[in-house]
Amino acid sequence: MWNIVGQEKAVSFLRKSLEKGSLAHAYLVVGPPHVGKMALATNLAQAINCEAADPPCNKCAACQRIAAGKHADVQVIELAQIAESGEGESKTKISVEQIDQILHAVNLAPFEGKYRVFIIDGVEFMSIAAANRLLKTIEEPVKNVVFILLTANERLVPVTVVSRCQRIELLPVTSEQIEKGLITFYQVDPEKAKLLARIANGRFGWSVSANSDDNLVQQRTEWINDWREMFDADYDRRFTFAAKLVEKYNQDRSVVQRKLDLLLNWWHDLLLVKVDCQKDLVNIDFNDELKKMASGYNMGQIRAFIGRIQLAKEQLRQNSNHQLIMEVLMLNITERNDQKNLVA
Ligand SMILES: [Zn+2]
Repeated sequence: MWNIVGQEKAVSFLRKSLEKGSLAHAYLVVGPPHVGKMALATNLAQAINCEAADPPCNKCAACQRIAAGKHADVQVIELAQIAESGEGESKTKISVEQIDQILHAVNLAPFEGKYRVFIIDGVEFMSIAAANRLLKTIEEPVKNVVFILLTANERLVPVTVVSRCQRIELLPVTSEQIEKGLITFYQVDPEKAKLLARIANGRFGWSVSANSDDNLVQQRTEWINDWREMFDADYDRRFTFAAKLVEKYNQDRSVVQRKLDLLLNWWHDLLLVKVDCQKDLVNIDFNDELKKMASGYNMGQIRAFIGRIQLAKEQLRQNSNHQLIMEVLMLNITERNDQKNLVA
């Protein structure tokens, strides 16, 4: 059984490939952060090493050892481990040494399973040298070896690598699908599943992590409250906040990107409140606060600031002047109409 939620197209494609015995030697799984790319890769690794008639069975020794991360033939390189190990520039790259380590294992016969599977998460963070080294291997497929490369940003993966992989795209999942998946596959309490499914905002992988780690939900609440404080803050405090964001961005881009996503979700929710479409809110646990805040703006103001946030996100991707981008964004936080009245 494939325990992947809301990715019928990808799963059906892989299932058919397995049935026909037409596995690719390299896959590139593309999708937004935490949508479930690693879950799919793990499931695929299980499916091709499963001992049962209808793989993946999730029950045989191979399936269970792969799920537990203990199978000798399934190797995972995760960026999280890399991020903690280095300093500065090196921590955002997958190095030649790391690729060499796995390439060394490529030529060894599978130890306990049918295939050796190498899963590389965050393949957009490979250094050019590492990508070239990897490319040589996927250009000359090795029997019984499958590479599964995962990326949230396909544009940053060298075209030469992309062109040699079978591409599989994962799309954001609806909150209904996430809710159902949490209850069916992870036996989550329905009330909790409902909240997690909403605030996951299409990221099934995130909802699974947040179910077992309360800190994730708590951190999200803190980040939202930081933004809410800024909506009413004076320019001095906003600029201090912008400077902190820039500092953080230089250390760990993904944190600031997530914070900006939260800001975008918040303002999108304000728009939904305005058009009386609360059933689609992401931040359902802030329903009252959203209603109160929305009453101070008109649609045009909300749309304009959403545009500002999207612009800032795009400019950051293009690596322009980070300080200026953040300051302009903070400067443009729309003043509430009721605040203006108070001043007047
Ligand atoms: Zn199995």
